[in-house]
Order: sequence, then structure tokens, then C-alpha cells
Amino acid sequence: MPALPTKLPNTGTTIFSVMSALAAEHGAVNLGQGFPDFGADPALLQAVTEAMAAGHNQYPPMTGVPALRQAIAAKLNGLYGAAYDADRDITITAGGTQGLITALHSCVEADDEVIIIEPAYDSYDPAIRLAGAVPVGVPMTQDYRIDWAAVRAALTPRTRALVLNTPHNPSGRVASADDLRELERIAEQHDLFIISDEVYEHMVFDGAAHESVARYPGLRERSFLVSSFGKTFHVTGWKVGFVAAPPALSAAFRRLHQYTVFTVHTPTQHALAAYLADPAPWQGLSGFYQAKRDGFRAALAATPLKLLPCEGTYFQTVDYSAVSDLPELEFAKWLTTEIGIAAIPLSVFYQQPQQRRHVRFCFAKREETLAEAAKRLRQGLRC
Ligand code: GLN
Repeated sequence: MPALPTKLPNTGTTIFSVMSALAAEHGAVNLGQGFPDFGADPALLQAVTEAMAAGHNQYPPMTGVPALRQAIAAKLNGLYGAAYDADRDITITAGGTQGLITALHSCVEADDEVIIIEPAYDSYDPAIRLAGAVPVGVPMTQDYRIDWAAVRAALTPRTRALVLNTPHNPSGRVASADDLRELERIAEQHDLFIISDEVYEHMVFDGAAHESVARYPGLRERSFLVSSFGKTFHVTGWKVGFVAAPPALSAAFRRLHQYTVFTVHTPTQHALAAYLADPAPWQGLSGFYQAKRDGFRAALAATPLKLLPCEGTYFQTVDYSAVSDLPELEFAKWLTTEIGIAAIPLSVFYQQPQQRRHVRFCFAKREETLAEAAKRLRQGLRC
């Protein structure tokens, strides 16, 4: 047998699989990998069943079911004052992950540099490397704001694109209008493509607004906006999302999409199209998760963990330096096996080793789960 090519020679198993397996092995409460432990709206599930019964079981158009693309375009245009065309500018993808990798491959070439803001969601780096390009990690500030001076310092003539993620996984920070305006200036000055990961677009707290690239004309014209229904409708296992991008970018995206994925699950697309007719489910999501955030933070207040700000997403990051000197990965494993709570170490989201003591908890969980987790943390972590 010939040697297998090693396109990602230094890449191990994703932290989400590692921590979920460890949690299952040790009977830990899994606050590691981000997914809800409660069900989706029965009306949405029923709509999938009905779509199957109605015979929507063959290939849809390559770009996605028209009614779903129309619903997405109407929502984006209504929310952000954009003018995406449902037929030309929206493509249904197999979740956010596929949207990200296909978008990157649509706009970068071998040896191009792509800026990623660290801590960076773990699929960006391998997706960029698979395109033969070079991921350039730019750390956020100490309090997890985007460090625009550092971004500017990292620009070179080879910089082709930047990956933005807001609301931000894992820090829970939300980019401001000033952040987006600065990005717009940089992107225009340096002629960059933007891959904008907005999968947590409907989880923004305390009355703040989600600053989508779609709101900023100078960004919109050079951005692939990536989102996912898995987050918004509590169905992470469905892996259905979309990419919105202007005509030339969408055409490039579809050239790759047609031969790598072609189409995604037809009845689910019909169900999502019907479900989007009512804005209440996504409009209510920020309030729903804000209440979970507040309850979880209140329950953790009695532990020695220091709670970092959580402005969006369903992740709460904590500083555990009052509890342990262990590096983050070791601490996350110890917490799972000894205290019975799985968490995600932030160190895995950086290219360079980190000296901080931060882990991330997912609070997209039932009240009983969060209460049990808080109890274990209160009892197990006495300093
Ligand atoms: N996005 C999820 C998280 O950050 C995990 C997705 C995955 O398991 N690949 O936890």
C-alpha cells in the first residue's frame, strides 16, 4: 500500500470529540462540546416528517430549496438592510463548517495568508491549510477584544483574507460597530476577502445588536457570511446552514460546492423554510439564552471560578487560577475525571502555547443539568 498523504500532519483529533468521549467515559456532565441537551420545537420536527410524507425526498436544486433561500434572503435583508438575491446570492450548506471551508477555498490560493483571530474556532486553521494557504493567528487582547493594531501589524502583501467570528466562540465576546468599521477600513485598504462566521447571530445579550458584515456595504461586497440553523433552532446534528455572498463570490463558492457537497437533506430544507415564516423562535433566542447565562453565572458565583464577560453565544469562559496551576488541557481533563464536569480548554484555539488559565463551559443545557453542574463545581472546587 502506498503511503497516505499527510495534508494535516500536525493535526490531532478535535477537542470536541476528545472531551465528549472523556465525559461519557467518566459519567461527567458534558459542558464541553457546544450542543443543547434539550429538544427542538416539536413543530419543526413535525414539519420535517410532513415534508418527507409530502414526497420532498429527491435532490433539491444544487443551491438549495428555493423557499428556504427566499426565507433567508428576506430575513437577512430585513435585519441588516442588505439586498441579497435569493437565487443568486444564497447557498444552502451542510452546516457552518462546510460553509467556512468552501468559502475559504473559493477565495484563497496556495501560499496566501489568512488572518484568524485567536482564540480561533478549531476548524479555521485546518480549512486554511487544506487550501495550501497559511493561517496567521492574531491573538485578541487580554480581555478578548479584537486587537486591531495587531491585525494591522500582521498584514503582508500576501494577506488575502480574514476570518471574523462574532458572537465569538469561545470567549463569548460580541464585536461592536466600531470593530466592524475598523475591519471595513482594513479590508478596503488591503483588498481582503472576509469570511464572517455568524453562527451565533441570534444569541446576543443585554440589548446589544449583532453586527453582521451584511450591515456594512464595504464589507458585504467582499464577504462570505456563514450561518447555521443548528445553533438557532437547537438542532446541531442536522448540519444545515447557509452562505450569503455577493454574485461573484457566490459563483465561486458554488463552483466548489457543486462537486464537494452538491446538495443537503431536502425535507429538512422544506421544514426550515416553513418554520422561518414565524420570526418568534429566532427573535426569542437571545432572551432564552440570556436567562440561562444569568442563572448559570449566579450558580457559579459561589465557586472560586472567576467569570469572564459573556455578551453572546452559549459559552461561559472562566478563569480557574484560584483553583489550580494546571495548564488548560490538563485542567479540563482533571475537571472531567475528578469533578465530573467536562469543559473546553482555550489553549487549543491558539497556534502558540498559552500561559492563561481559562476554560469554556456550554450553558445550552436544561436547568437540572446546569444545577447539577454548579453543585459539582461548588462541592469539588473549594480553594
Ligand atoms: N461548535 C461546537 C463547539 O464549539 C462544537 C462543534 C463540533 O463538535 N465540531 O463546542
